[in-house]
Amino acid sequence: MSETLKYGNISSKEAIELEEKYGAHNYHPLPVVLAKGEGVYVWDPEGKRYYDLLSAYSAVNQGHCHPKIIKALIEQATTLNLTSRAFFNNKLGEYEKYITEYFGYDMVLPMNTGAEGVETAMKLARKWAYNVKGVEKDSAIIIFAQNNFHGRTLAIVSASNDPDGYDGYGPFLPGIVTVPYNDSKALGEYLAKHGKNVAAFIVEPIQGEAGVVVPDDGYLKACFDVCKQYNVLFIADEIQTGLARTGKLLACEYDNVRPDILILGKALAAGVIPVSAVLADRDIMLTIKPGQHGSTYGGYPMACVVAKAALEVLKEEKLAERAYELGEFFREELRAIDHPMLKTVRGRGLLNAIVVEPKDGVEAWDVCIMLMEKGVLCKPTHRHIIRLAPPLVITKEQLKEVADIIASVFNSL
Ligand SMILES: *Cc1c(COP(=O)(O)O)cnc(C)c1O
Repeated sequence: MSETLKYGNISSKEAIELEEKYGAHNYHPLPVVLAKGEGVYVWDPEGKRYYDLLSAYSAVNQGHCHPKIIKALIEQATTLNLTSRAFFNNKLGEYEKYITEYFGYDMVLPMNTGAEGVETAMKLARKWAYNVKGVEKDSAIIIFAQNNFHGRTLAIVSASNDPDGYDGYGPFLPGIVTVPYNDSKALGEYLAKHGKNVAAFIVEPIQGEAGVVVPDDGYLKACFDVCKQYNVLFIADEIQTGLARTGKLLACEYDNVRPDILILGKALAAGVIPVSAVLADRDIMLTIKPGQHGSTYGGYPMACVVAKAALEVLKEEKLAERAYELGEFFREELRAIDHPMLKTVRGRGLLNAIVVEPKDGVEAWDVCIMLMEKGVLCKPTHRHIIRLAPPLVITKEQLKEVADIIASVFNSL
């Protein structure tokens, strides 16, 4: 054991070696080991402090180890954990009432991971297509937008056009079609031809993994309207964009769209445990009957109290309003950086990205390494894009410091 350790009992070097040797190599992390987190900060075992500009892909909107959420977790953890859904528990109904009223839907179906939420929405859409819309058996179609990211299950990667996501995993799920993102006309044209068999259109209001791709104003509304025209469900995957991240409670609010099915995850449990939720009205939700879908942990008491606390924190701390204002400030600061390698700044609220123009072999990854050395953690997506998404509890002063560090890194290139 090294004497220089501040947190935990193994060094960064040892932690990396262990993961390399014993863990599957399905990720390519930045060479930093995290041992502690609080609010907007994380620390490595040796005690170096960093700003977290990823927030675990927007799961930690409320900040690391939020005291109110951790208190709820601990109280429940020492009282009752898993019951399974074979029995009722005394926390689920209360949470279901809370979250449905919070988002204005009749009902919720609780799951754990985001991918499970998306799977659930796909299953619901198919059930609805057969039982309500009257689509012929086994011919329902679900339309996705190109360059989507909805998770890693086989059904979901069947809709992916990122070779890293799907290559080598075939055969794929039938009944899936993709149309270009930010192109409501393309959706309309497909529906005009095949709308009779289409169950749903599923879309990210901003494409997160694709590199924070913000569609034109009115895109979501136009898609919603054309879906209504052909009796097709409009499903929003707000797993990354929802829960105050983009400066509104839901990113769909920018277009005044109320999705028929809303999928939430990530920050729904503030990065504490995996909790996802699928919200819809009764005419859709009740097409799935007892025994036809579920999950051992879905809706367990811990998930219910943590998610309720996480949602309360969003409101109590006005995190949507905060993200909106800080986002405007942050983008302004970033746009003021005058460097040929910083091509674009884009985003909404505190879901932002910069596009890096590679030069002399320096790519987004190298910029992230330099930022890491200066105490700012972010992760590149697609080689030339760096997502910047701090916990929403960050202060203006802290954000200014981050912007200054980013400027100093670009100016050193
Ligand atoms: C992260 C993410 C998912 C998948 O969530 P997991 O919890 O990793 O399964 C789905 N959709 C979007 C938009 C995401 O950002």
